[in-house]
Amino acid sequence: MNYPQSFQDLVDCFKRLPGIGGKSAERLAYYILSMDKSYVEEFSDSIKNIQESIHYCVKCGHICEDEFCDICKDKNRDQDTICVVEDSKDVFAMEKVKEYNGLYHVLHGTMSILDGKTIEDLNVNSLFERLDDSIKEVIIATNPTREGETTALYLAKLLAKRNINTTRIANGLPIGSNIDYADELTLLKSLEGRKKI
Ligand SMILES: [Zn+2]
Repeated sequence: MNYPQSFQDLVDCFKRLPGIGGKSAERLAYYILSMDKSYVEEFSDSIKNIQESIHYCVKCGHICEDEFCDICKDKNRDQDTICVVEDSKDVFAMEKVKEYNGLYHVLHGTMSILDGKTIEDLNVNSLFERLDDSIKEVIIATNPTREGETTALYLAKLLAKRNINTTRIANGLPIGSNIDYADELTLLKSLEGRKKI
């Protein structure tokens, strides 16, 4: 027996989310059905609003609600260091490491042969536009995955042509892991142990 169409539509929506299988999607749809109407409205409004309100900082590519993100706007941060990460969630992870007070640049992914993504598909042009004499170091903090390492090496080559002091976070992070899953101490050690690339 099939579910009513509107119920099935919601199940199908949940199934498209990462890490949600058929059973979980059904459980979530049942839960929504039992929820208070005002909470359902708040929930659906916030899903709609996130697309309208959140966009990318024109300077660094981090998510924000204004033209520039809070980090780019903060003049108390070290303006001479840029930490390059794959996604905005990595910025939030790095921010847990209180020692880092520089700026960021978000690539929005990595180079990937499987997905046909090249360096041109990443947010790199705006990174190179930011590089002037005031930048003393670019720290590449892409994830220690095959794609993350490939992207780091490729970026390092491009940065070397511009005579930029480039470092790579140390291998304290498990191979194949993601920065946003790492605990603060591991990230701090990884940042402290960064090496010239
Ligand atoms: Zn920014």
